[in-house]
Amino acid sequence: MKHLMERVIPIQILKKPEHGKPCNGCGHCCISEVCSLGKELGDEVVCKALISNIAGSYSCGLVVDPYGYLSDDQSTTWRKIDEIAPGVGEQGAKEFYAYLLGSGRGCDSFKQRGDER
Ligand code: SF4
Ligand code: SF4
Repeated sequence: MKHLMERVIPIQILKKPEHGKPCNGCGHCCISEVCSLGKELGDEVVCKALISNIAGSYSCGLVVDPYGYLSDDQSTTWRKIDEIAPGVGEQGAKEFYAYLLGSGRGCDSFKQRGDER
């Protein structure tokens, strides 16, 4: 449990919408359970890619800044594309992770407040 003391556990402020309604970035899904992509980053309790925004919402670092969160190995292919066409690889990584995570398809979490850990 050492990592729990090293990292601050995020607090959900925004109300979670119903499943299927537009995502408001409340962060409930990521706070209550780290997804499989987040676990690959090395922490199964507090996701290393969870970004806390000023207005109380959360963003996924894999979508907004993939190179800031992926290891060198994980980002090699995207960086190689950047060498040929600057920026195209990074943009591709953002769109790839947004697609994998279902961005733009509404809230995909059935969990409710109180389901945390
Ligand atoms: S998918 Fe749902 S629970 Fe997750 S941040 Fe969006 S609204 Fe909140
Ligand atoms: S990788 Fe992104 S979507 Fe998955 S738990 Fe972390 S912040 Fe949430």
